[in-house]
Amino acid sequence: MNIIKKAKDNLFFILVLLVYLLISIFRPTMAFESVKNSAYYIKEMLIIMPVIFVLTALLDLWVPKDKIMQLLGKEAKGKGLVLSFIIGSISAGPIYAAFPMSIMLHKKGASIRNIVVILSSWAVIKIPMLLSEAKFLGPKFMIIRWVLTVLAIIIFSWIADKIIKDEDIPNKEEVKVGIEINKKACIGCSLCVKTYPEVFKMDGKKAFVKDYDEDTVNKEKLNEAVKVCPVKAIESDL
Ligand code: SF4
Repeated sequence: MNIIKKAKDNLFFILVLLVYLLISIFRPTMAFESVKNSAYYIKEMLIIMPVIFVLTALLDLWVPKDKIMQLLGKEAKGKGLVLSFIIGSISAGPIYAAFPMSIMLHKKGASIRNIVVILSSWAVIKIPMLLSEAKFLGPKFMIIRWVLTVLAIIIFSWIADKIIKDEDIPNKEEVKVGIEINKKACIGCSLCVKTYPEVFKMDGKKAFVKDYDEDTVNKEKLNEAVKVCPVKAIESDL
């Protein structure tokens, strides 16, 4: 169970390894180049990511939740949009550095729309990028592309906000390690609660995991609850 869960959690990584394996069998030269390129990016990430994690942790610690909600939350409207453009545009570093920060901002109440704006402007309208664009392609090209890109970001962020829900963003703090319920799959039949009410509870139409002590969990009852779930929504590595 543990190995299957670990494999599921790292599905993308396993797929990448398989692709590398296939390429190295059929096109060894290409595989060598791919490994070289990957090593370059991994090295770059290892240098950048620790700094990003420290900065994200400091922001998480110092900036209060109500401030983030007020400035970047759903109610921030136009002010939040402008601030998101500014944050994305003045940022530095590769786009993958923006993801840990986005998770932290979302956890503290930033809206999906503003996160899309931050990520998009970080990726395509950063100020250093605009300066070098103006130098190579001319100011007119840069200004027109900037205006059109900003309009596109406003439209796409609005659409993304309609499609992506807050619960679609993983929030590690909410995940109970050991026993998990796939909320999307759960049909609310409450069989798990009837089987093991000390660990499972219903909240509305979904099952939740109560606070439990790993040492006192009855494995037989837990396995029974996992088995009775008709949609296999419960996962446990206890
Ligand atoms: S048994 Fe499965 S589907 Fe039914 S409430 Fe529990 S988790 Fe949801």
